[in-house]
Amino acid sequence: MNVRVKFLGGAGTVTGSKYLLEIDGAKILIDCGLFQGEKELRLRNWDEFPLDPAEIDAVVLTHAHIDHSGYLPKLVKKGYNKSIYCTHPTAALTEILLMDSAKLQEEEANYAAKKGYSKHAAPQPLYNTDDAQNVLPKLESIEFNQPINILDRVKINFLNAGHILGASILEVYLEGSTQTKKLTFSGDLGRMEDPILYPPHLCTETDILFIESTYGDRSNPSDHIKEALKEVVLKTVERSGCLLIPAFAVGRTQLITNLIKSLQEKNEIPMLPIYIDSPMAINTTNLYRKFEAFHQLKDTDNDPSNHSAFDAQNIHYYKAQSSSLVLNTIRKGAIIISASGMCTGGRILHHMYHRLKRKNDSILFVGYQPPGTRGRKILDGEPTVKIFGEVVKVECHVESIDGLSAHADKDELHKWLLNFKSKPKNTFIIHGEKKSSEALKYFIDRDLKWNSVIPEYLKGYTLFENI
Ligand SMILES: [Zn+2]
Repeated sequence: MNVRVKFLGGAGTVTGSKYLLEIDGAKILIDCGLFQGEKELRLRNWDEFPLDPAEIDAVVLTHAHIDHSGYLPKLVKKGYNKSIYCTHPTAALTEILLMDSAKLQEEEANYAAKKGYSKHAAPQPLYNTDDAQNVLPKLESIEFNQPINILDRVKINFLNAGHILGASILEVYLEGSTQTKKLTFSGDLGRMEDPILYPPHLCTETDILFIESTYGDRSNPSDHIKEALKEVVLKTVERSGCLLIPAFAVGRTQLITNLIKSLQEKNEIPMLPIYIDSPMAINTTNLYRKFEAFHQLKDTDNDPSNHSAFDAQNIHYYKAQSSSLVLNTIRKGAIIISASGMCTGGRILHHMYHRLKRKNDSILFVGYQPPGTRGRKILDGEPTVKIFGEVVKVECHVESIDGLSAHADKDELHKWLLNFKSKPKNTFIIHGEKKSSEALKYFIDRDLKWNSVIPEYLKGYTLFENI
């Protein structure tokens, strides 16, 4: 058996994860992510795919995030017609995220058409909702820790990665004619101590390791978060204002809700009403209710329709647009959590439009705000931002809490690697910006004394010959 890997994304950058395994004549694609961020990267989504998707024999997903799954509708549209393997929660979350991604692609194309800034007469989306829909029947979900054969002599096994619901570390077993070899893809690794998700599985040996390096160069402590959140809530209550929290619908909303709920249960903050105002966040919370075995928040009442970990008398889930708008009339004593987390679209915009100018209210950022976004401008202290084409004054209190990332930080990555009992034949450092990957390489080379490579985009490497 001869085995090669080619990096079709997630190399030298954090997005577009796509790793092509060529095993004799067979081809397996590990993750199928969209490139995001800078325009130069996003344009890669429009490039000709480096091979005919119909030639691929299987796709395996480590988790549902768009930078790992968001290219699937295009792959299927271009002829991929076989199974997509993932865990049960990943399949369910992928449906939510792909439908949202397709909607955004369509909106972007419509906007370009309206503004006339596209070179094309009728700008087309990268894919539409029908294309996303066509992916769903191909999702084949399996349990953690139940190895299955996906091709002749190729077995996969998912282990918990603790990054988002259902996120996995992937093991690929290759049964050569003389020996069996193991590849391990870390996927995105989560935090060692998370109030909701279990910590990442600690692997001890592999032949070839593919390790993510998002935070390869940064510590990101999280022990101050509860205290910081408490302070922001108390200050807002003191001013008789409302607290607005833009949050990602998947993972972050559930984490913030849970943190506030536990502060309230301990009487550390008043029992203010919490409004979860995002259909996507609500659909995601329902998956936490459904897939209880995949996280630590158990329903002590044994009632899935009223899951004690997510429900309380003061927690309100608002799905309808009409109820969302009613929230604008609340003058004080409420916490509103809405999406999108980067304030780029969605219901958070109308909340910001009404609350940024209210001096007693607070806006609290709990996630990364990329340069150029409204969130970044507000955090940087700009006195106004544009919303719905109007200039809106920022007069509310602006707060932010760091450390809420769903990624293992530098210290946690080191800890995870130090658990290996033997040295892999080779380690590929992926899913990181140059500086982060290089910092992790320094640790791997110098402290662990392993062989490591930071692979290049579109480059192929031989893993095994004649095994
Ligand atoms: Zn991720």
